[in-house]
Amino acid sequence: MAAMATPRLYLADALLADTQLTLPREQAHYLLSVMRMRAGDDVRVFNGRDGEWRARVERADKREAVLCVHEQLRAQSGAPDLHVLFAPLKKTRTDFAVEKASELGARVIRPVFTRFTQSERVNAERLQSLAREAAEQCERLDLPEIAEPVRLDALLDQWTQREGARRLLFCDEAEGGAGTPWNASNGAASDALGVLQALRETPATPWAILIGPEGGFHPDERARLREADFAVSMSLGPRILRADTAVVAAVSLWQAILGDWR
Ligand code: SAH
Repeated sequence: MAAMATPRLYLADALLADTQLTLPREQAHYLLSVMRMRAGDDVRVFNGRDGEWRARVERADKREAVLCVHEQLRAQSGAPDLHVLFAPLKKTRTDFAVEKASELGARVIRPVFTRFTQSERVNAERLQSLAREAAEQCERLDLPEIAEPVRLDALLDQWTQREGARRLLFCDEAEGGAGTPWNASNGAASDALGVLQALRETPATPWAILIGPEGGFHPDERARLREADFAVSMSLGPRILRADTAVVAAVSLWQAILGDWR
């Protein structure tokens, strides 16, 4: 069997050498029952601020676990300044989108309600715990933030006040639907590689990627997005992707060309 990496755990507490931390019940349960740790075992801990540390389980029982923090293994580093904005989907697809955006290195994930969004609410706490588990598993040192949901119209109205120089890359499937050739005259956006490579030549700015709901953007929403001077549209190819697939495709392309995969 291949050697397993030492398990990692996200903690909210400050991390310092030679300090003891008492884990709350839920995290103690995770450490003992899910990660199967026992007194004397090593774990790695991070809190999104103080880097990654080696710690040892000092004491463990059903109600609580005590860790002793030993030495710093890695200094803090962050994900690139990329926000992923997406219209909430059915539960399992929303979960998938949040988990994958976290693994792929989004810094902030924000639900956005559009006219055709099917789901009218999100469970922010559940999404935050999915993002935390993804961060624990994928070795990132920061925690993706699940930001307050907003309505698309409000987001666009207040973009510059709230987001400053951040630009918006919106994934725009062809108006004619699947198979419509890429061509600006029939309303299709430019291909992703062309768009992203051109952006690489412009001064670096923070970015947000916007993915629409399963029903797509309303024509008024699309028109507004296309007119906004902070927004750039991009096609993800001649097939219509499910929104959760579009999240993965768009974040991967952005990371490879403008982000930290370089
Ligand atoms: N309006 C479509 C479905 C939308 S797919 C229809 O019903 O035919 C959901 C979202 O994924 C879209 O709003 C868009 O943001 C993104 N998306 C899916 N396929 C895409 C593609 N080929 N190019 C760009 N974006 C795409």
